[in-house]
Amino acid sequence: MPNTYNGLSVPASGQAITIKNGTFQVPDRPIIPFIEGDGTGRDIWKASRRVFDAAVHCAYGGKRQVEWFEIFAGEKAFQKFSQWLPDDTVAAVKAFRVAIKGPLTTPVGGGIRSLNVALRQILDLYACVRPVKYYSGVPSPVTKPENMDLIIFRENTEDVYAGIEFQQGTPEAAKLIGFLKNELGKTVRSDSGVGIKPMSVFGSQRLVRKGIRYAIEHGKTVVTLVHKGNIQKFTEGAFRDWGYQVAKQEFGDRCITEDELYKPPYNGKLPAGKILVNDRIADSMFQQVLTRAREYQVVCTPNLNGDYLSDACAAQVGGLGMAPGANLSDEYAFFEATHGTAPKYADQDVINPGSVLLSGVMMFQALGWSEAASLIENGLARTIQQKRVTYDLERLLPGATKLKTSEFANAIIENLQQ
Ligand code: NAP
Repeated sequence: MPNTYNGLSVPASGQAITIKNGTFQVPDRPIIPFIEGDGTGRDIWKASRRVFDAAVHCAYGGKRQVEWFEIFAGEKAFQKFSQWLPDDTVAAVKAFRVAIKGPLTTPVGGGIRSLNVALRQILDLYACVRPVKYYSGVPSPVTKPENMDLIIFRENTEDVYAGIEFQQGTPEAAKLIGFLKNELGKTVRSDSGVGIKPMSVFGSQRLVRKGIRYAIEHGKTVVTLVHKGNIQKFTEGAFRDWGYQVAKQEFGDRCITEDELYKPPYNGKLPAGKILVNDRIADSMFQQVLTRAREYQVVCTPNLNGDYLSDACAAQVGGLGMAPGANLSDEYAFFEATHGTAPKYADQDVINPGSVLLSGVMMFQALGWSEAASLIENGLARTIQQKRVTYDLERLLPGATKLKTSEFANAIIENLQQ
């Protein structure tokens, strides 16, 4: 393994996380690469890192410690290396396996379409995992936000995000429209732009497999396949069918379908140890998460549905400032803030670091450092209950005290000890 990445030396006192039989093997001083992020990323990373280190210290008293290692992408990478995503950054994530990042500016014009999409594709981070859970005291637009406690597994590499599109008026669009008409007998208006939506058995099934495994490992009892298969039968509808196939063929001893549940021998009662696998059409699911959120626990869904649904669910429990995320493959885990760089607040020390903090909670859980994860989660929850919050929550929370990003981190650190 190289001693430097992007010209920076690897921390000498740390070790790399390795993987064995699909499980991370974590040393007591793991080297974890981080990208601080652009715009407000600088403020929220600084604050979050202090909370992470304090929680690890509080939980393990020096026996364990993260050796943070900065890697670069986005504006900072472009300023330093004239590259938005240096090869060394990708190489470091591959070498150290687990990384965390703040938000990145999407380069405008030419080159990389989106750094986040590029990272997902290069590292084949096929599952975008977004837990959505309510923390008491967070202002919410719904009457019972506490009913929502679910985790979304969004397919991350296929669907319309595969990026096969042809602009209206180009020879390529005309050629494809001609091909559809002449070879396949399908008519598309001649003045259309056209896009292709690929969804494969492989891509869909590995995502659903990950969702069901998560349900088994975390004692969840419902896995819901969310799709638009009533209209897009051979992509979204196939996703549903392939998902049920995985449930039946690979987890048949644990999973039963909704059809089976309401027939003998179950007669509507889910036996202990079983997981109900059901499916919902995407538009209906958007109603269900508002009206019957309690009924859903693990959601597996194709890329575009997952994009919309994750943000809509996050809005119900306090918005993007509080929504964590992870992009996972079977080999690498990249934890990330789910919001953008909010450039108008950059370097003002005002933005809510909740998204990176809770992504850190996910990261520590994945490392098996659950004590540190709980300390951060409880410290954050307690600080919000004390109504000591950043501007975004303060403006919605009567009687709250508005804290700067750094002050909010201080308050969480104080609360870690409680
Ligand atoms: P944005 O950065 O998410 O900000 C939109 C608004 O959301 C902010 O003005 C703010 O609302 C609120 N917000 C976002 N993060 C918040 C936080 N931590 N705490 C409190 N409020 C928060 O979206 P954008 O302005 O559309 O995108 C800016 C840049 O980020 C673009 O270059 C975009 O491509 C990029 N982006 C990156 C990622 C990523 O790296 N994962 C994701 C999305 C977008 P108020 O103004 O109401 O306070």
